[in-house]
Amino acid sequence: MLSFQQLLISTKGQVLQQRESLPVSYLLTDSRKVVSPLYSLFFAIKGERHDGHQFIRELYSMGVRQFVVEHTQGLHLSAFPEATILQVENSVRALQQVAALHREQFTIPVMGITGSNGKTIVKEWLATLLGKQYNIVRSPKSYNSQIGVPLSVWQINTTHTLGIFEAGISRPAEMAYLEKVIKPTIGLFTNIGTAHDEGFESSIHKVREKLQLFTQCQTIIYCRDHQLIHEQMALFKRPEQQTFTWSKIEAAAEVFLHEIGQEHGQSVLAIRYTNRDWQLQVPFVDDASLENVMHCITAMLYFGLEVTEIQSRLRMLQPVSMRLEMKEGINGCYLIDDTYNNDLAGLTMGLDFLNLQKQRDTKTLIVSDVLETGLPEKELYQHIGRLLETKGVNRLLGIGEVISRNKEFFAPGSEFYPTTASFLKQPLLNKFSNELILIKGARSFAFEQIVHKLLQKTHGTILEINLEAISHNLNYYKSKLHSQTKIMVMVKAFAYGSGSAEIASMLQFHRVDYLAVAYADEGVLLRENGIHLPIMVMNPSPQTFDKLLNYRLEPELYSFAILNSFIQYLQDTGQQSPVHIKLDTGMHRLGFEEQDLPQLIQQLKIHPELTIATIFSHLAAADEEEYNYFSTQQMERFRKMAAMIEGALLYSPIKHILNSAGIVRFPAYQLDMVRLGIGLYGVEATNQEQAQLETVGTLKTTISQIKKVKAGDTIGYSRKGKVTRDSRIATIAIGYADGFDRRLSNGVGKVWINGKLAPLIGNVCMDMSMVDITDLEAEEGDEVIIFGKQYPISEMARQIGTIPYEILTGVSERVKRVFYTS
Ligand SMILES: *Cc1c(COP(=O)(O)O)cnc(C)c1O
Repeated sequence: MLSFQQLLISTKGQVLQQRESLPVSYLLTDSRKVVSPLYSLFFAIKGERHDGHQFIRELYSMGVRQFVVEHTQGLHLSAFPEATILQVENSVRALQQVAALHREQFTIPVMGITGSNGKTIVKEWLATLLGKQYNIVRSPKSYNSQIGVPLSVWQINTTHTLGIFEAGISRPAEMAYLEKVIKPTIGLFTNIGTAHDEGFESSIHKVREKLQLFTQCQTIIYCRDHQLIHEQMALFKRPEQQTFTWSKIEAAAEVFLHEIGQEHGQSVLAIRYTNRDWQLQVPFVDDASLENVMHCITAMLYFGLEVTEIQSRLRMLQPVSMRLEMKEGINGCYLIDDTYNNDLAGLTMGLDFLNLQKQRDTKTLIVSDVLETGLPEKELYQHIGRLLETKGVNRLLGIGEVISRNKEFFAPGSEFYPTTASFLKQPLLNKFSNELILIKGARSFAFEQIVHKLLQKTHGTILEINLEAISHNLNYYKSKLHSQTKIMVMVKAFAYGSGSAEIASMLQFHRVDYLAVAYADEGVLLRENGIHLPIMVMNPSPQTFDKLLNYRLEPELYSFAILNSFIQYLQDTGQQSPVHIKLDTGMHRLGFEEQDLPQLIQQLKIHPELTIATIFSHLAAADEEEYNYFSTQQMERFRKMAAMIEGALLYSPIKHILNSAGIVRFPAYQLDMVRLGIGLYGVEATNQEQAQLETVGTLKTTISQIKKVKAGDTIGYSRKGKVTRDSRIATIAIGYADGFDRRLSNGVGKVWINGKLAPLIGNVCMDMSMVDITDLEAEEGDEVIIFGKQYPISEMARQIGTIPYEILTGVSERVKRVFYTS
């Protein structure tokens, strides 16, 4: 715990206001993650897209009383009579200084891990492998940034005997700050790749920067075969610092890996250590995992473990799933599947994710005993009880001896079971309905059995939606805009096929300003799923006016016919409503034209029951360079027309014209708001900046059967697929009823199987298709990627002469959506 005096000294801050000094247990940087307001210290951080200063008022009203700020513009201290407020030059640095001070109180060994890839996996594996003899504190998931690192280090307490923290940087000079916070005594450098090179002059520069993490390490572990790392290490290292290396080439390394064999899907590593030869079996065959596991083996040898002991522990390793997945469950439930581990940080993250989902009112947690926290039992479960309360959990099912004997800390009505088996013994089918269920269990509890029981059974085809990529893409577009420009996100057509309620929840969490749908029913669905953002409906009809008003949906008015009938409706029912005026500036789809304006203005003036929330228009060819002049004309015409309407009103509506392509190509015309569509879903319409976006959707299926077919035979309906050589043909579980376009038939389309493209052969059927896998290796049950990162949707669209929009929105509703985040 941190005293006010320490805070003051470590940050060299200036006291703007001082009240009762409260002990600080939580460092808070995100206003959405408050657990225990009174014991939290909030750092107002100004990022590229968010400014923490904007949330001080909200936090104060939630009970937070201690703040570190960079300025007080727009804040009246008198509005925070009970707050202690400290002003610093840079809140991130202050956060780091506070964490560094905390770190200094502990003399335990601390390992710092950096490198381009594998940091998180090596950290997680080492925590598993060394957990027997150490009580380990580690970075939650991949918290390795300028903010994530201090929050990780803050977790160290007196019960811990080893720390393992990862550090990542994207710009020069950043590592020195992280070094001061982690202050590692042992270093581990995983590797160096070419990704994220933008911030650095060269790879050498990048390696040198990363090495800064090891300034005070006694020992640094790495693989000598990364030549750049090896060379720079020699220059960086002071004589009193030791290295402990492994290599596949150099027998001079401490650990020499001289042979890699394979046996029953496992790898057999032949290593030489202290002049003796050993064989170790590891449950992985891919290069990346082998490199990661070698780092772990080398680290364990450094920690003095016997090779036989290392072998037995390696059997505990599992592929690390960094994902939190949300799937459709039985009886209208959603399952959030997080069965990899269950420590306090992981549980908190799972609960945060649960908390931001608004699709169902009841939030249920199925949780096992919480492991490896280092806290005394009572204190731990008391804390968890509080956590559940603040994160809005309505229903708890606790499984395990330890959580069961700590019932007292949980709400009455909670259920407890000593083991997973005893939980599974009861009939589960009627136990859950219309709930959001977070399933969070430590490995040993085998909660995947519970997930399996509660999961809606699906055929093998799923559309995976990466919610993290949605956030990334949203932030990318935000970075192109002024901070005050509002964002309306288009979630029409089931959010471009990606699942409207789930995407809208995410957008609500990110505080976008507006949503837009095509039809009233789409808006109703969002309201029924807990979305309270304002929603514009682009195609209102008189039959849906009741729904619009009942569900606070705001119609787009584009013609006198719809305008007049809406006015009539409002007058008849004595209501008022915000509306959106659509202007036609050249698209010639919907909208009032220039010659309509005098009459339109007249109407708007005499009907105060209409509030003009926004005025907007749509660009016909924002993505096409050859029509730049036309687009500019549209935007200028819009400005003029909107100004005429605005001039006749006593207030100023929001004006907007840019879609995704427009944001990239005409940021000068962002006006008050933009309408983001396809870009959010990972497709950059102009194709200029595709590399900046992350893939959101991956459509996957599986191989149902594989056949050997002789040259001269044919495949499928109408005998269209002629086999010209002896071939292997795989039948995959997707057809045109899933949205897999029939135009892809007969070699036009390709799918991605085990790292290679396989062409379609024969006609696409309703529920199945056939592909030629003669030139690749595959087995029945293997995964097939229809589109995704490996095979972009734009490529698939090109094959059949359409656009990604059509493919995305065409994935049929019978294909289950699985949402995940890391
Ligand atoms: C769909 C739509 C958008 C979004 O377009 P994208 O090309 O997907 O960015 C914007 N405005 C209107 C009126 C739309 O119908």
